[in-house]
Amino acid sequence: MFGRAPKKSDNTKYYEILGVPKSASQDDLKKAYRKAAIKNHPDKGGDPEKFKELAQAYEVLSDPEKREIYDQYGEDALKEGMGGGGSHADPFDIFSSFFGPSFGGGGGSSRGRRQRRGEDVVHSLKVSLEDLYNGISKKLSLSRNVICSKCKGKGSKSGASMRCPGCQGSGMKVTIRQLGPSMIQQMQQPCSECKGTGESINEKDRCPGCKGEKVVQEKKVLEVHVEKGMQHSQKITFPGEADEAPDTVTGDIVFVLQQKDHSKFKRKGEDLFYEHTLSLTEALCGFQFVLTHLDNRQLLIKSNPGEVVKPDQFKAINDEGMPIYQRPFMKGKLYIHFTVEFPDSLAPEQCKALESVLPPKPSSKLTDMEIDECEETTMHDVNNIEEEMRRKQAHAAQEAYEEDDEMPGGAQRVQCAQQ
Ligand SMILES: [Zn+2]
Ligand SMILES: [Zn+2]
Repeated sequence: MFGRAPKKSDNTKYYEILGVPKSASQDDLKKAYRKAAIKNHPDKGGDPEKFKELAQAYEVLSDPEKREIYDQYGEDALKEGMGGGGSHADPFDIFSSFFGPSFGGGGGSSRGRRQRRGEDVVHSLKVSLEDLYNGISKKLSLSRNVICSKCKGKGSKSGASMRCPGCQGSGMKVTIRQLGPSMIQQMQQPCSECKGTGESINEKDRCPGCKGEKVVQEKKVLEVHVEKGMQHSQKITFPGEADEAPDTVTGDIVFVLQQKDHSKFKRKGEDLFYEHTLSLTEALCGFQFVLTHLDNRQLLIKSNPGEVVKPDQFKAINDEGMPIYQRPFMKGKLYIHFTVEFPDSLAPEQCKALESVLPPKPSSKLTDMEIDECEETTMHDVNNIEEEMRRKQAHAAQEAYEEDDEMPGGAQRVQCAQQ
């Protein structure tokens, strides 16, 4: 903090969030927060992020000490703890301090109080490249917990529940252990009798629909729309479709797309890559072939007259790549990567025939004398240069390591070099 000039732009955001001028009085702030918070409350379909921002802004500006720090040094100063306790209070608590805990719940339910958020359920969904190119709807059957409709999640016929006798309704059990003559250990654990809920239901009063469990299993069919151009690992979310539980905001079901490998095409973002092997004759004298696209269209791919394709060459076709997500009429490129298959050997008469039509060899005539002065060499095939280089590097690293180790003798090293 020290030595850093305070930035002007940092200390207006909270005023902007609440929509008040910097000169706003405490009353103005209260009114502005109240109006905006009702409008943006998540229970009323508001945006939870916006709701949180409002609470944060109000929390700071309604505290004269924090407001002064904010006005002078901005948000970061508060985060760095100058305001004493940088963490923000729960936005629902701030809201409740205005409106009381009963706001927002239909029919006197417990919606207003701070609720747990249920877990999201994440499934992976395998899709083919064709699915991502063409788009597809998949129906998936899932089973999940829903609040029992017979007892509306109470678990009992009468709607009554007793305090759990095991924990007196606290949901926690305290056990005390004597560790020594003058020392005890106190441990708190969720009560096992009520699974931490603090309540118990009389056996005779248990709801027959859910046997007192408050939830029942339900089969549900979800239709997942995989849209054109979606990506590997993209998420499709069904908000509030995960397991229901009493007093819990239901989590989401999330499908994560997993693209299966394709035998012909590879995808990179909006582009597609296709491998094609040409014979040497095709590469030199022209070719044409049919490429079946991901939507089964047949594309005719052919060379231009007189064109020669070189090994490892790429060519591209515009607008035949992947459709772009949410703009499916736009497409990326289709790249074709050419491999040229050369013959392994040629007979002398084939060489002669080729030499008669191909451009002449570079003229570097060596005299017998010059050749006599050279040393003979033998070349051998290197099938995979990357592999060979990797092996050499690993070997060098191993040697360096052993030298560091200062082996006496060095017998080890000699052995290694021979491998
Ligand atoms: Zn209990
Ligand atoms: Zn029930």
